[in-house]
Amino acid sequence: THRASLPRNMIENTMFEEEPDVVDLAKDSTALEPDEVVYEPRSSRLLVRGLGENDLDDEEEDYESSARLLGMSFMNRSSTHNSSSSPYNRQAPPRLCSCPSARMLVVGVFILVLVASMAMALYFLPGCTFTKAGCGKANSSIPMEPSYPNSTNGELFPWNELRLPASVRPVNYDLSLTPNLTSMTFTGRTVINMTILHDTKRIVLHSSELIITKATFQVDKSVEVKVLEYKPWQQIAVSFLEDLKVGQVCVLTLDYAANLSHTYDGFYNSSYNDKTGAKRVLAATQFEPQAARKAFPCFDEPAFKATFLVRITREPGYITLSNMPQAKTTTLPSGLLEDEFEQTAVNMSTYLVAFIVANFTSITRNVSVYSVPEKKEHTHYALDTASTLLHFYNTFFHIDYPLRKLDLVAIPDFLAGAMENWGLITFRETSLLVGNQSSPLDKQLIANVVAHELAHQWFGNLVTMRWWNDLWLNEGFATYWQYTSLMTEFPQLDLDNVFLGVRFKAMAKDSLNSSHPVSVSSQVTTPEQVSEMFDSVTYEKGASLLLMLKTTLPDGQFRKGIIKYLDNYRGSNTVTEDLWNSLTQVGVESVSDMMRTWTLQNGFPLVTVSRKGGHVTLTQEPFLPTFLCVLLSLWHIPVTYVNDNCSSAPSCRQIFTLRNKTATLNVSDSVKWLKLNYMNTGFYIVHYGDEGWATLIDALKTDINTLTPHDRASLIHNIFALSRSVLGRVSFRQVLNLLDYTTNETETAPLTEALSQLSSVYRLLDKRQEQRLLARMKVYIWGHFGQLMDSQDWGEEESVSRQELRSVLLEMACSLGRQNCTDQATALYDQWTNSNQTKQIPGDLQQVVFSTAAQADLRWLSLMEAYSSTTYDSEKRKILQALASTQDPRSIVWILSTGLEGGIIQTQELPLVISTVSDGFAGHLLVWDFVKENWDRIIEKFPVGSYPIQSIIKSTTSQFSTQTHLEEVQGFFSSLKERGSQMRSVQESLETIRLNQLWMDRNLPTLRIWL
Ligand SMILES: [Zn+2]
Repeated sequence: THRASLPRNMIENTMFEEEPDVVDLAKDSTALEPDEVVYEPRSSRLLVRGLGENDLDDEEEDYESSARLLGMSFMNRSSTHNSSSSPYNRQAPPRLCSCPSARMLVVGVFILVLVASMAMALYFLPGCTFTKAGCGKANSSIPMEPSYPNSTNGELFPWNELRLPASVRPVNYDLSLTPNLTSMTFTGRTVINMTILHDTKRIVLHSSELIITKATFQVDKSVEVKVLEYKPWQQIAVSFLEDLKVGQVCVLTLDYAANLSHTYDGFYNSSYNDKTGAKRVLAATQFEPQAARKAFPCFDEPAFKATFLVRITREPGYITLSNMPQAKTTTLPSGLLEDEFEQTAVNMSTYLVAFIVANFTSITRNVSVYSVPEKKEHTHYALDTASTLLHFYNTFFHIDYPLRKLDLVAIPDFLAGAMENWGLITFRETSLLVGNQSSPLDKQLIANVVAHELAHQWFGNLVTMRWWNDLWLNEGFATYWQYTSLMTEFPQLDLDNVFLGVRFKAMAKDSLNSSHPVSVSSQVTTPEQVSEMFDSVTYEKGASLLLMLKTTLPDGQFRKGIIKYLDNYRGSNTVTEDLWNSLTQVGVESVSDMMRTWTLQNGFPLVTVSRKGGHVTLTQEPFLPTFLCVLLSLWHIPVTYVNDNCSSAPSCRQIFTLRNKTATLNVSDSVKWLKLNYMNTGFYIVHYGDEGWATLIDALKTDINTLTPHDRASLIHNIFALSRSVLGRVSFRQVLNLLDYTTNETETAPLTEALSQLSSVYRLLDKRQEQRLLARMKVYIWGHFGQLMDSQDWGEEESVSRQELRSVLLEMACSLGRQNCTDQATALYDQWTNSNQTKQIPGDLQQVVFSTAAQADLRWLSLMEAYSSTTYDSEKRKILQALASTQDPRSIVWILSTGLEGGIIQTQELPLVISTVSDGFAGHLLVWDFVKENWDRIIEKFPVGSYPIQSIIKSTTSQFSTQTHLEEVQGFFSSLKERGSQMRSVQESLETIRLNQLWMDRNLPTLRIWL
């Protein structure tokens, strides 16, 4: 998401034959009754192996429980509590950290530090920690009752786990669907062919919101059977008196009826107004992660791969699409048409199945792009890009795309950016359609999403993670390839700057305690936990770690390893360790030891450099030192560095692997300075100490080109991060010292980073209405960047990098009311409206022009008209953002409620509207009230834990910085109980508010002096 057939023995080896009756059993649970074993992702044990010893002695347990008491890292739905309360789980509960055995000594040494960190940690605790009720995290997942639950009809349901038993394996699904777009209902028949892998008396599968009307089961002859349903877990089951025997082949046929979903998942209905204004309806699917079960009964877990044959009935005037090419069309006696698709040529996971009924049109080359008929003209860019990238991936991965067709479809109302369904990729219109005259910056967005989804056809579709805890194997890779493929095939799109920004973003999220390891070893079982995996750690940190690994390995080795991985596991499912093993197979050195330190613990290291003559001491510690275990975590850090003699060419780069807490490297005495983390390809932050920073700042002031633009951006990012960290390692004065060099800066990456950091400081101060400081901060910004802002050209610009830079500069200038900027923007806007929108505004300037215009009442109204009339999706989105940036409270309230309503503003845009409103002063409290008031309606549209909900929580709360707001946010979310209180994003938001508070306390005095 933005988001090859395999020999049977391979599937069974990797997935089904380890232990009877449970998918992916933990090895040490063999003594238990097979059905009763609790699933634990296998990687939980690797952490122990990678970082220390398995068994914790009593003292260590004590430390861990104090850590737990402190609520750090464990405060989020830690699985430890469940596990220990479960009578079945004999496995050591997964540890988020496991300290080395010699650590007790170290503990003594660190005891003072510990006391200090505990004090710090206490400061960051949620208020509920010491109350009797606790924070309600401990038992967040379903308790393991030894008895079976009751089915809907009162009989005992024959299964009591969220995960399905593995005694039965689906081989093929035959799906017939009859949607009715008038009544918004559908009926279906699902015929599942399966084999019995272990003797069993039951078949358990998923079904949600389907009314099963008839069920038959056939081994020898077909008999009608009773279906039991357990709704809370979205499961149905058929029980048998006699064992089904291993090796038997059987067929379950289920007839059912359901409503087309009115949310964004399952088989859902969507609509749009065509150019005559008439409402057109369509039906489409979105199954990832767990909604295939809403369209047809199935074994809805990624490891249950099977083949699919799909038939869909439609009215004439519509077309249908599915994963495979259409095989035939039959006219039914009713006059309806039935389209039948070829059976899938590959085994695939249920979440990748897709079908659409709509009146779309298409253009075709080796791929096809579909849209509503009036937007056909906007599909060409996507077609060109997809066609080029398909060729690139085919060649690069050494495995041809395995299906006979590939469609890219723009769906009018669609929640995610896009979804990689095999052979039938679905997109938001804004992620796929772009007019010919659109700016390269608009095209860059489309190229990004297309490249991401195409990469999934290999990473995700061909090789799939075994379970959602390893989602990064899908999303980290797709994100990584998205940038890598575009940098190779479309260098003019300037993706290396974008990728750098993405790595900074991943660090921001991963520097919170509430973050999670890329490969999650604690339980990920409930639907909310699965949804929450779709976050920036999984995507962006995942991609950043792959980049770090790639740049560490000898040339070509990463690619070789990746090809090996695809080849080893095509058609099958994997865990993270499989990736490291494949990479190790092609290289001389094992990458597992290094990479485990990065994927199995959250957070990242801070590397501190201190120098005495030719001796350079490097020390690592967690960037976020909040409790004992984290203090003792170590990473294997491929530290890269350059020095003043040779500092910008790639050949200058040297590598040193820092495995221990401290190490020394020797440099010549004549070396004046070192810059670590060359091009910021490593996932760590560097602190140079007062002296080190000073020499680097001097070097930049003397010759800005002594470092690459990415290295300059990296310094800016690192120093802001250090000033914002809990321990406040550098003062804001030092930050400002570094920024002094930027008066000479003209490159996009460092300027973008500096402006985005300054604007987040500005927004915080704005929310506190620190009027005097705000005025001085403006003076500061004008002093450093004013000239550059004023010198920007407002005409057409070819270079994407220049476009990015000028849009960032001008958006800041205009939003802070710089006259020169607002005059120009207003003039361009008026030209545009006076010419009846024929006098184009350059695409990269549209946002600043529209947003500036939206600040005046009359222009806001004219923008509203333009919003309804434009058919250009990228333009429409920018207009919407502009409308939401108004500082008029009544308009803000209107736009929020209209966004929630759907219709004029599609509900899919609500998260964008909310985040834009939150940025402004006028709306930030209104929008928080709005979210609280409408919480239930919001989670009806966007499931708890989903990315839109994460974004809504983050944008509405991340600019609070007072105790009152902290308590209010805490109070609201804890009152939600199962309607959202358990979400990781809630912890993130509380942590962020505390950090803001801390930053304010520490820096307001400095700012008053130094600005
Ligand atoms: Zn994706």
